[in-house]
Amino acid sequence: MKQEKNIPYKIYLEEDEMPKSWYNMRADMKTKPAPLLNPGTLQPMTFDELRGVFCDELVRQELDDTTAYIEIPAEIRDFYRMYRPSPLVRAYCLEEKLQTPAKIYYKFEGNNTSGSHKLNSAIAQAYYAKQQGLKGVTTETGAGQWGTALSMACAYLGLDCKVYMVKVSYEQKPFRREVMRTYGASVTPSPSETTNVGRKILAEHPGTTGSLGCAISEAVEVATSNEGYRYVLGSVLNQVLLHQSVIGLETKTAMDKYGIEPDIIIGCAGGGSNLGGLISPFMGQKLRGEKDYRFIAVEPASCPSFTRGKFAYDFCDTGMICPLAKMYTLGSGFIPSPNHAGGLRFHGMSSTLSQLYHDGYMEAVAVEQTSVFEAAEQFARVEGILPAPESAHAIRVAIDEALKCKETGEEKTILFGLTGTGYFDMVAYEKFHDGEMTDYIPTDEDLQKGFDGLPKVDK
Ligand SMILES: *Cc1c(COP(=O)(O)O)cnc(C)c1O
Repeated sequence: MKQEKNIPYKIYLEEDEMPKSWYNMRADMKTKPAPLLNPGTLQPMTFDELRGVFCDELVRQELDDTTAYIEIPAEIRDFYRMYRPSPLVRAYCLEEKLQTPAKIYYKFEGNNTSGSHKLNSAIAQAYYAKQQGLKGVTTETGAGQWGTALSMACAYLGLDCKVYMVKVSYEQKPFRREVMRTYGASVTPSPSETTNVGRKILAEHPGTTGSLGCAISEAVEVATSNEGYRYVLGSVLNQVLLHQSVIGLETKTAMDKYGIEPDIIIGCAGGGSNLGGLISPFMGQKLRGEKDYRFIAVEPASCPSFTRGKFAYDFCDTGMICPLAKMYTLGSGFIPSPNHAGGLRFHGMSSTLSQLYHDGYMEAVAVEQTSVFEAAEQFARVEGILPAPESAHAIRVAIDEALKCKETGEEKTILFGLTGTGYFDMVAYEKFHDGEMTDYIPTDEDLQKGFDGLPKVDK
C-alpha cells in the first residue's frame, strides 16, 4: 500500500487540541441568512416569541449573526471527551482500490452509540435545557439517529425526553426504538392520537405512515402545551450548525498539523447540519477571502431540495405551526416516495447553507439511491466501516471526484464527512442486495404540488 511519508492512516488530536469554542459562520457572511418569520404576522420572530418553543440560550444562539466564536461550556466539553476527538482517516485503501492519484480523507462521526454526528448538538441542547431548570425536551426523529442521540444526552443530564418517531421508521426499526427506551426516552409513533395536530393529520390522511414534518408538529405542540418542556431540533437550525462546527474545527486543526489542504470538501445534506459543521472553518476562510475551496452538498435525487427546490419562505413542519424559514425547499407538503430508503428526507434545507448556495459559495449534486448503495458497499469492503446510507451520499461523490482525478491525473485532496454507521439500515441494504431497490426521481408535476403549497410571502 502506498503511504505518504508522515501521514498516518488515522489522525487523532490530543484532548487539549479539541476546540474550546464553536465557530459561527454567519458572523463572516456578507448576506446573512434570512430571519425566521412569525407565520401570523410575517415579521421576524423575536427572542420572546421563540423562547416559548426553544430554550433561552439556544434562542440567543439562533439569533446571533455576529459573534464568530461562542465558548463551549466545560460540561459539554467533558461530554465531548467521551467520544471525541473523532478520527480523520486517510482512505489509503479506497485510493488504492480506485487507483486514483487523488488523496482522500474522511472525518468519521460514527464512533458513538447513537452512530452519528447528531450527539454533538444533542448534548449542547440538553445542557442548555438543564441550565434553564427545565423538566425535559420533546423532539421528532425520522431514521432514529437524532432521537437516539438526544436520549443519550438527556439520560446523562437527567432530563425527560419525549420522542415522536415517524411511524414508518417506528415500525421498520424496532431496535432503534429500544435503544432510545434503554436511555429512558418515551417514543411515540407519529402521527399519533396524543396531540391535536396528530389527530387532525390522521383524520385527513387515515393510514398515513407519517413524515418528519408531521412529527415536528406533534413534538412542538407537546413542548408548548406542557409546563417545563421545550422543543429541540436535530438539524436545519442555525444553532445546530453552530454546535456541529466542532466537526470542521477538529478537521481543520488535524489537517493544519500535517500541512494538508483540501481542494474539495463534500458532505451529504439532509437539513444541512453535518455539512454546515464540516465546512464551517473552511467556508469562513472563503467568506473572508483568504482561501478558496470547492464545497459540494450531496442530496438524494428523490428529495432534491437544493438542486430542484425553490429558495423561498416555507414552513418547517406539515402542521404549519412552526416559524417560516427562508430556504431551498420542496414545500412542507412534500413527502419523498416510499421507495426512498436512504434518509435525508426533509423537504427543506438549513437557511445558512441555502443562503451560501444562493450566493454561489457552494455547489450541490443529487444522486440516485442505487448508486449510493453501490458506493456504500464498495467503501465498506475496503475501508471496513459500514456506512449509514446518508453518509454514503458523500462517499458516492467523493468516489466520483476521485475517479475524475484518475482521468485527468490530478492529485486533488478530497475531504468528505462520514457522518455515521448503518447498522440499523440493514433492511435498505437487504433491498439493495436482493436487487429490489429502485430509483425514483420526482417529476416536475410531483414537485409542483409541493410548490403550490408554499406560503405567499413577499420576502
Ligand atoms: C441525520 C443524519 C444526516 C443528515 O442530517 P444533516 O443535518 O443534513 O447532517 C446525515 N448522516 C447521518 C448519519 C445522520 O444521522
